[in-house]
Amino acid sequence: MAYDLILKNGRVVDPGQGIDGVFDVAFANGKVAALESSITADAADIRDVSGLYVFPGLIDLHTHVYWGGTFLGVDASMLAARSGMTTAVDAGSAGAANIRGLLDQCAPMTPVRILAFINLAVTGIFVDEGRIVMGEAEDLRLLDIKHCVDAANRHRSSVVGVKIRVGASTTKHLGAMPLHMAIRAGELADLPVMVHIGAGMPPRIEDIVDPLRKGDVLTHFCTPKINSPMTREGFLRDCMIAARERGVVMDVGHGAGSFGFGVARRMLELGFAPDVISSDVHAGCVDGPAQDVLAIMSKYVALGLPINDVVRAATTAPAAVCRRPDLGSLAPQSAGDAAVVELRHERTVFRDSIGDTLAGDRRFVARGVVIGGRWWRDAEPRGEAA
Ligand SMILES: [Zn+2]
Repeated sequence: MAYDLILKNGRVVDPGQGIDGVFDVAFANGKVAALESSITADAADIRDVSGLYVFPGLIDLHTHVYWGGTFLGVDASMLAARSGMTTAVDAGSAGAANIRGLLDQCAPMTPVRILAFINLAVTGIFVDEGRIVMGEAEDLRLLDIKHCVDAANRHRSSVVGVKIRVGASTTKHLGAMPLHMAIRAGELADLPVMVHIGAGMPPRIEDIVDPLRKGDVLTHFCTPKINSPMTREGFLRDCMIAARERGVVMDVGHGAGSFGFGVARRMLELGFAPDVISSDVHAGCVDGPAQDVLAIMSKYVALGLPINDVVRAATTAPAAVCRRPDLGSLAPQSAGDAAVVELRHERTVFRDSIGDTLAGDRRFVARGVVIGGRWWRDAEPRGEAA
């Protein structure tokens, strides 16, 4: 057999290559082997995916998949089966004390690729859904630059950055200081930092955004809460415009409480689209309103973002953040991951983190998942949009 798998006649959208059209995609030896208008060679598994989209395997840059290791953790396999996500980037569930459990014990339980932003706090995120509300970054005794850098270097192939959650609810009286510590860890380990805009002040939004460097990630950038990137009058704050100009990555990070349609729509009107569309899926929002990365992509389609831009924000863009050009692409020799997705035309009412709704007339529904160059499984799509 020339190939292990060929997906025939799908509508291939691969923004990194500027491709949007009907193509055949062949896989061999765990990788993409060919992308051509017609592939006639034989394969062990040939599937006609006419009428469906074929995307590079989706990358969710903000997840919590330390399943069994933290209260927030969810099963990456379940997410993949219903969304076409083939790479889950865990955003700070684990710190130096427990990242080995995430990467060496939890990750091997799933075929999904698990990468991680390591939390500056040695414990990672230990909050639950409301009983344990203490932030992991509010006590200096838990924040250790050397531990963070050493652990990142030990797990170099999987750690893609440093995570810190900053806001009154997570850093308390320490304000923005933990962010500066995380950036120092990022400098020492040569990694980007992902910062979460927490609920409440201090610190002010400017104190969270201004220190970020080119390539650092601002997650929850469409937060509808106070300390918003928008002014009360509905304009972007100067710090946000300056951050985009210097190359800070704007990441959705929907989550249970961090995404508002009103903010997202206004930002699109102002030409401020997300760089990365991620879910921040965790135990408290996996059944809605976040669900998974494909669900957030559907919301952005409903908000009017072109499909190519939506796909780019869940493939090429997060791959660049992770410095993994072999991911999020269907170019030959890329990782053999793909999402087969239907754009289902049906009336759908979407819900954001504060209960606002948005009516749309179509949504993405996963139909199949390719991992490591083989058809991993038919998708098990969610019944309804959240
Ligand atoms: Zn998160």
